[in-house]
Amino acid sequence: MTQLVVATGNPGKLKEMQSYLEGSGWELTLKPAELDVEETGTTFLENARLKASQVAIATGQWAIADDSGLAVDALDGAPGLYSARYGKTDQERIEKLLAALGDRGDRSAAFICALVLSRPDGSVALETEGRCPGEITRAPAGSGGFGYDPIFYVPETGLTFAEMDKDQKRKLGHRGRAFEKILQPIQDLCPAP
Ligand code: IMP
Repeated sequence: MTQLVVATGNPGKLKEMQSYLEGSGWELTLKPAELDVEETGTTFLENARLKASQVAIATGQWAIADDSGLAVDALDGAPGLYSARYGKTDQERIEKLLAALGDRGDRSAAFICALVLSRPDGSVALETEGRCPGEITRAPAGSGGFGYDPIFYVPETGLTFAEMDKDQKRKLGHRGRAFEKILQPIQDLCPAP
């Protein structure tokens, strides 16, 4: 099988990507720990391109990267690219976001996931974005998931991400939607053994 390096140091993310790309023909591996890419882009897509291309060039292999975050309309898209750095812990990030929104009526938001596949020479072979529209709740609800999940409510389900089971979040979530879009093209690109 042809190896596909996942541009992350996080084994959890590798596992998640493995489950999305099961049966695609690629063998997913973690990027070397010492290889760090600075996320200097101004959009999720730019950051995913940077990570995928640089890891591909450094390893001489195909690479895939994602970049994701939460964009809140009434906060001009914040925390956006800074979703991971918005506070020190998940709880701090949630409290800060709820405080920033206060009792504003417009609570619309979207989770966004950019996904980029790079050839070994660093050129982009595929890129896409998955979005999940929703609303920021007034208080956390649910205990599943991670990050901002307890305050992200998806009206069509009547649940927050943290109240959904894995399959439901996978189907509706930004990452699942992004992978759904590239599953067929990524399968088609897999070099024959
Ligand atoms: P990453 O760039 O994909 O690692 O994600 C950046 C940050 O966005 C994470 O640290 C979380 O704070 C937030 N985030 C991304 N995806 C999710 C999600 O599915 N649920 C909750 N928070 C998320």
